[in-house]
Amino acid sequence: AKQHPLAMTPADPGWNDLVGIAPGPRMNATFVTLARNSDVWDIARSIRQVEDRFNRRYNYDWVFLNDKPFDSTFKKVTTSLVSGNTFYGEIPTEHWSFPSWIDQDKAKKVREDMAERKIIYGDSISYRHMCRFESGFFFRHPLMMNYEYYWRVEPSIELFCDIHYDPFRVMVEQKKKYSFVLSLYEYKETITTLWDSTKKFMQNHPEHLAPDNSLKFLSDDGGDTYNLCHFWSNFEVGSLEWLRSQAYIDFFESLDQDGGFFYERWGDAPVHSIAAGLLLNKDEIHFFNDIAYWHVPFTHCPTGEQKRIDLRCHCNPKDNFDWKGYSCTNRFFDVNGMDKPEGYENQQD
Ligand code: GDP
Ligand code: MN
Repeated sequence: AKQHPLAMTPADPGWNDLVGIAPGPRMNATFVTLARNSDVWDIARSIRQVEDRFNRRYNYDWVFLNDKPFDSTFKKVTTSLVSGNTFYGEIPTEHWSFPSWIDQDKAKKVREDMAERKIIYGDSISYRHMCRFESGFFFRHPLMMNYEYYWRVEPSIELFCDIHYDPFRVMVEQKKKYSFVLSLYEYKETITTLWDSTKKFMQNHPEHLAPDNSLKFLSDDGGDTYNLCHFWSNFEVGSLEWLRSQAYIDFFESLDQDGGFFYERWGDAPVHSIAAGLLLNKDEIHFFNDIAYWHVPFTHCPTGEQKRIDLRCHCNPKDNFDWKGYSCTNRFFDVNGMDKPEGYENQQD
């Protein structure tokens, strides 16, 4: 077989190891996708990229979840693309509906008001169910109970670089519980009272707060107000056992009681991020710089030319969002005392 030209350079990223099945152990982990039948071609694109860049050598399973039954086209297409085993689950009604304590009229008025104010997804009921499901339920779906770690994949994402190692193994071996590639500021209008609810939770459950937490990532005034920073949850590699822990469940249930999934439009991204920031120690949150990623409209493209060459990346470094003004990743680096990559100053606008 013809050797890849890079395999003969000193910068050899181990090309010959990237052919065939990767050696080494597998973790108890799965990809997970929430999708509608109509998302089939958009998720097909995502799967193809995840497989080409990583999973064809690792063959991890993939769980698909839907509030309606998956149709045969969806199952056929996705099964043909995934190198591991595929599983298809329906979401129980209790996990995709209004809890009994929600005032339907109040929720409806909020949607009408948000529609008028042109707040993105502000008028949508299904989007709210989706955000509540991703915040509180996906990790306890019966199909997910078989696993300890998950990697969330959405329709229409791109992966721009080869992934040379097993991110699940990084999570396990480095005792990480949550990870991200992009972070940014949330739309204030969608989470007006989320921090009030969070503060109430902190008062009621001081026992759940991690001693070395990342409050500084979330707040600029010692916890008085939320600075809107969050990890973008359309990409996540994380611990299911953490999400199933008493601490996380108490947090979710406290928020759910307050009703903001329906009286506002709380997203699962700020919910997961606030939980990670408060319930985990700093060293349990991981930034996957090597995983180059796009979900409309933001790109994470690793800083540093040699890295991009080694990983056969096809992203334009100018598109990298990390160091731009609307990203919170700079703050994450500061809070964690991490060295910023060479050349980051040139990517700030
Ligand atoms: P955005 O990324 O915030 O713009 O939201 P998306 O439209 O990408 O939705 C987030 C995730 O939830 C994606 O994986 C969608 O496929 C999925 N999703 C959104 N709405 C629904 C829904 O009503 N039913 C199902 N089954 N999945 C949904
Ligand atoms: Mn999306």
